[in-house]
Formats: sequence, C-alpha cells, structure tokens
Amino acid sequence: MDIAQLVEALGLQLLSGGDLPVRSPIDGSEIARLCRHSPAEMGLAVGRAVDAWTAWRKVPAPKRGELIRLFGEELRANKPLLGRLITVETGKILQEGLGEVQEMVDICDFACGLSRQLYGLTIASERPGHRMMETWHPLGVVGVISAFNFPAAVWAWNAALAIVCGDSVVWKPSEKTPLTALACQSLFERALGRFGGAPDGLSQVLVGAGDLGQALVEDSRVPLVSATGSTRLGRAVGPKLAARFGRALLELGGNNAMIVCPSADLDLATRAILFSAVGTAGQRCTSLRRLIVHNAVKPQLVERLTKAYASIRVGDPLAEGTLVGPLIDQAAFDSMQAALAEAGRQGGRVSGGQRVFDQAHPEAWYVRPAIVEMPAQTAVVRQETFAPILYVMGYDAFATALAMHNGVPQGLSSCIFTNDLREAEFFLSPEGSDCGIANVNIGPSGAEIGGAFGGEKETGGGRESGSDAWKTYMRRATNTVNYSRELPLAQGISFDLGE
Ligand code: NAD
Repeated sequence: MDIAQLVEALGLQLLSGGDLPVRSPIDGSEIARLCRHSPAEMGLAVGRAVDAWTAWRKVPAPKRGELIRLFGEELRANKPLLGRLITVETGKILQEGLGEVQEMVDICDFACGLSRQLYGLTIASERPGHRMMETWHPLGVVGVISAFNFPAAVWAWNAALAIVCGDSVVWKPSEKTPLTALACQSLFERALGRFGGAPDGLSQVLVGAGDLGQALVEDSRVPLVSATGSTRLGRAVGPKLAARFGRALLELGGNNAMIVCPSADLDLATRAILFSAVGTAGQRCTSLRRLIVHNAVKPQLVERLTKAYASIRVGDPLAEGTLVGPLIDQAAFDSMQAALAEAGRQGGRVSGGQRVFDQAHPEAWYVRPAIVEMPAQTAVVRQETFAPILYVMGYDAFATALAMHNGVPQGLSSCIFTNDLREAEFFLSPEGSDCGIANVNIGPSGAEIGGAFGGEKETGGGRESGSDAWKTYMRRATNTVNYSRELPLAQGISFDLGE
C-alpha cells in the first residue's frame, strides 16, 4: 500500500502544494506538502473551541465518555493503517507504530471508565449543620503541543481525558509528523459522526511550527497547555503561561538510567537494556541513556551487550525483523555524532554509532546504536542526546551509584536491577530515585497508561495519562452548604453587631 492509498484509507487526501514539506525518514522522500496555519487562524480556532467547551461542559460526563468509547472503536478498527502511517512518518518500527495505536485504545478505555468516576471528596465541616464537599468542573480549552516521537499517543493521552472532563482541545502537533495528526483528527471525526450532536470545534488540529505553538500558549482563552518536547520548549512555554496565570502541563526531556547491582539477573537486564536503549532508535523520552553497573559484573554485562548490539538488525522499519529504524532527520544524526565526538574527548571509549545505508538512502539517517564506556559521569552524559547512545559507567558503593543516578538535571524515568530487597526498596524510597517513574527489574521505557506519566526537575513536573492525572484537566470547587438556621463562622470567630 503506497502512502496515497494509506492516507486515503484514513480519510485524508494526500496533500500537496503547501509550504510545509513532510518527509518520511525511511528514505528521506517528500510524502506530502501541507499548508501551514497562521497565528490568526489559531486565534479563530481557539474561539471555536471556547464555544465548543461552553456547550460540551453541559453534556453529562458518562455521555462524554461514550464519544471516547466510539473513538476507541475507530482506533481499534484502523490500528493497522494508523500504526503504519506512524511508522512511515517517524521511522519507528511497525511493532512500535502499532503499539502506539494500542496505547491510544487503552487510554480511550481508561477515559471511558473514568467518565463515571470524576469524584470529589465529602469533607467533615467544623460547623454544626454544615456540609463540605468538592466538585470538579470542566476547565475550558486545552492546548496540546506534541513532539515528533509519539505523534499520536501523546495527543490521545491528553485528548481522551480532556474530552471526558468536558473540555475542548486544540492540537498543534510536531511539524515533522502532521499527517499522523490529521489522520487522528479524521478518525475522531468519524466517531463524532456516529455520536451525533457534539458541538463543532470540540477537537481541532492546526499545522505549523514553533510560532504557531507560541500563539496557542499566548492565548489567554486557553487555561491549560500541555506541552511535550525538549527542555528548550519548556523554557519557552513555562514562563509565558506563568505570566498569564495559565496552567502548564510540561512533559520534557529525560536522561534515564539503570543501576545494575551484583545480584541482578543479567539475562533479564540485558534484554531490558536492549529494548530501552535501542528501541525507537533511542528516540523515546524514556529511552535508557545511562547504565550504572557494579564493577563486579560490568565486564560480563558489557560483553553480553556488545554481542547483542552486533546482532541488532538496523533497517527498513516496515520490514519484519528490523529492530532499529532511522533517526528522524539529519539534525538528529548530527547531534548524535557531536555527542559521540565529545564523549571521546571526555575519555569515553565508543563502539558503534556509525551511519549505515547512506549509499542506498543519501537522504535518510540510519545508524548503528552506540555503547560508550565512560570513566565518569561527565558533562556530555548529563545532557539528553535524542539518539541511541548508551553511556556505561562502573560503581563500587551503592551510595555512589545512587548519587550518580540522581546527579543529572532531568528526572523522568529510572530503574534498578537487583535481587536484593534492601537495594530495591531503598531505590523506591524517599532517599532513592528522584524521578517521576522508578522501576525494579524492568527497563525505564514502555510505561502502561494506568499510572501517571511524567517526571521531575527539568522534565517539567507534569503528569499525564492514568491515576489522577485527569484532575489537571478540571477545576476544583470547594463547596460549603449550611442547612441550619444559624450562621456560625469558621475558627469560632465572633462577628456580632452586639445589640
Ligand atoms: P521539540 O521541543 O523540538 O518540539 C516539540 C513541539 O514543540 C513541536 O510541536 C514544536 O513545533 C513545538 N515548539 C517548539 N518551540 C516552540 C515554542 N517556542 N512555543 C510553542 N511550541 C514550540 O521536541 P521534539 O524534537 O519534537 O521531541 C523530542 C523531545 O521531546 C525530547 O527532548 C524528548 O525527551 C521530549 N519528549 C518528552 C516526552 C515526555 O513525556 N516527557 C515525550 C516525548 C518526547
């Protein structure tokens, strides 16, 4: 199936003639040309979204859940097509493209159930004849800015919850993956058609780059902006939202580590390292980037990894058996090469990392994943390089490993491989990992939707997806009801006229 047939099956016409070229990283070819939306069009879209929210907030939440249930059905039916489009646009292998759609289905199921569980508390009042409670109300327009590497799931995490919570959504996807966004919108519109009667403008997609995202961030009619991307993006968006008292949900870069202890099951660790360090060509926010291994097992583990890395199949992400597809573009390749050169200057021993298939595909950027043995956690290790580079460092004392683990600016995902209960529990304790995600005997990537997803420090502090992340998409009202004939004041304050 060629790209024209693929997008048509997803309800789109293959677009041409615009000023935004869309390329497939598989071979670097141009697969579409879209028209960018202007900041003025963003303003109009936000206006429509305000109107949509005004109507949608009155629809009972379980009925709103029904729309998301229908959307989940569309996703289930179109999983092979959408998964394939994700692969064509991002270069992630087909298994991972399909996995991303499954993640969307999962969050739809979760959100549908949640639509009957938007609970508030009942609170004991200190005053006689009074009752206190909290209620959760729809917040308004939710702006979503998303990164290229999860071009569909990140929006779905936000949109499924936001729609159930009674909000409307305006989405500015990555300019590198707009077709996937338009396909998601098309499937959502099919669900809207079956649902019937939802307001226009409930979900909208506008295509463009950072300037368009900025227009969304600066619009004071948007009470919440969920922004996923680099720490640089967070630094641009966070202060602007704070200045207008908007709510920011920031999901930014990670620099995720694994501690491997002497008691670890090295077979299990090797498999987990492989998936989390080279999966998605190292282009997951939760990719494993730092391996902190006890010196007693380091030589063995490095040997196993070197062997495993040698047999990884890099190539066409649509072909069966491929584990690593291309990097997204030349800029990603250049930053990988710059990091490897810098690591060499800082005492690292680099194996792998070279470009492959450049003869066959001069416009595509395939690399062998790299392992870099470092003498210490130097400056280059402390930064996120969005590519398949695994820095390996040794340790002798557990406290040193933990200090190294937490000694980076980012705080997204983390894990420990150990069979020692004390080490495992300490890692999860308040003195252990400082990340938003901390795992035992599981790699740092590939989270399930049931838990809250996000991280601390320069990762931005936001939480999306499961648990009580829905609360960010609503506003809380605390209500006190007086059913007595008196008017006692809180804290026992007396405020009488004294007659
Ligand atoms: P990026 O920061 O280059 O772009 C992300 C999005 O922000 C794009 O849609 C872009 O157009 C937009 N943008 C850029 N500048 C903007 C501005 N000034 N105002 C508003 N919008 C702006 O990121 P990327 O290269 O697409 O993605 C890779 C990065 O995303 C990595 O750092 C990765 O760790 C991070 N990421 C984080 C998570 C998470 O959940 N924590 C998930 C996926 C990706």
